[in-house]
Amino acid sequence: MADLQAIVDEIHDKLTPRLGEGKVADYIPQLAHVDPKKFGMAIIDVDGKVFKAGDCDEPFSIQSVSKVFTLTLALGKHGETTWNRVGREPSGSAFNSIVQLEHEEGKPRNPFINAGAIAVSDLVLAGHTPREAIGEIVRFVRYLADDDSIAIDPEVAKSEQATGFRNFALANFMRSFGKLDHPVEHVLGVYFHHCALAMTCTQLAKSALFLAASGRNPLTGHTVVSKQRARRINALMLTCGHYDGSGDFAYRVGLPGKSGVGGGIMAVAPGKASVAVWSPGLNHNGNSLLGSLALEMLATRTGWSVFGQ
Ligand code: GLN
Repeated sequence: MADLQAIVDEIHDKLTPRLGEGKVADYIPQLAHVDPKKFGMAIIDVDGKVFKAGDCDEPFSIQSVSKVFTLTLALGKHGETTWNRVGREPSGSAFNSIVQLEHEEGKPRNPFINAGAIAVSDLVLAGHTPREAIGEIVRFVRYLADDDSIAIDPEVAKSEQATGFRNFALANFMRSFGKLDHPVEHVLGVYFHHCALAMTCTQLAKSALFLAASGRNPLTGHTVVSKQRARRINALMLTCGHYDGSGDFAYRVGLPGKSGVGGGIMAVAPGKASVAVWSPGLNHNGNSLLGSLALEMLATRTGWSVFGQ
C-alpha cells in the first residue's frame, strides 16, 4: 500500500497556500463565523491505521454529511419500504431545490438533497418524539465512530431553525402531498439537529469505516449493515452525494462521497479506507472546494477510484 501518511502530508502542504479559497456558507448565520482557512484530513484504512493532517481533530458542523447516517438508520427501521418515500436518482438540481417536487408529487429524487433528507427524518421519527429521534441519531453516530463525545451544536441547530425558510417550504410542500407523517415542525426539528452534529475529520472517517469494509466496522467488530446495504449506500453517495456536482466529483475523484455546507466531505474507498476532509470554502455547488481537490489528489496518488487506476 502507498505511504498514506506521506500522501496526506503532501496534500496538506500543497493546499496550504490556497487555504481560504471558496465561499463559506453564510445562509446559516452560525456557519458564517467559521475560519475559512481551516483544513483537516483523516484517512483510516480497513486495518484501523489512521493517517491525518491539519485541523483533523477540530469539530466542525457536518451538515449534510449526516444524511448518510439518517438514511442508514431509516433503512434499518423501514427496509426497502424507505424507497416508497424517496427515490434513488441524481437530481441534477441544487441541494435545496424545490422545482422537481411538484412534478414528482412530493417524492424527493434522492435521500441526500434537502427534500429527501427531510423525508428520511420523517421516517426516523416513526414511533418517537422528536427528542427521542434526535437522541437515537446521536447514539447511532457515537456507536459508528465508537466515540461518546460526539454531540450536536445547539447554536447551529437554533440558527438554522430561525432561518431555514426554504426547508420549511420544502417540508410544507411535501406535507401538502401527504408525503410526511409527522408535523412539519417535528420533522424539521429532527432534520436541523442532525445537520448540526459537530464532528472532527477523525471521528467522521471512523464513522464511515463500515462503508469501506462491507458493512462491518473493523475497529469495533460491529456489523452495522449487510454487505449488500453498504454497497448500495456507497452507490447512492457516488451518484447523489454531491448534488448537481456529483458527476464532476465522480469524474475527478471516483469515490462514493457525501458533502456538507460546513465544508466537510466523507468519502469511501471500498475495501481500502474511509476518508474525511474539511475545508469551509465552498464551490458553486455548495461542496468544499479544497476538500474536493484534496480527495482528487488522494485518488490520483493512490489509484483508489472505483473506476480503475
Ligand atoms: N442544513 C443544511 C440545509 O438544510 C444542509 C445543506 C447541506 O449541507 N448541503 O440547508
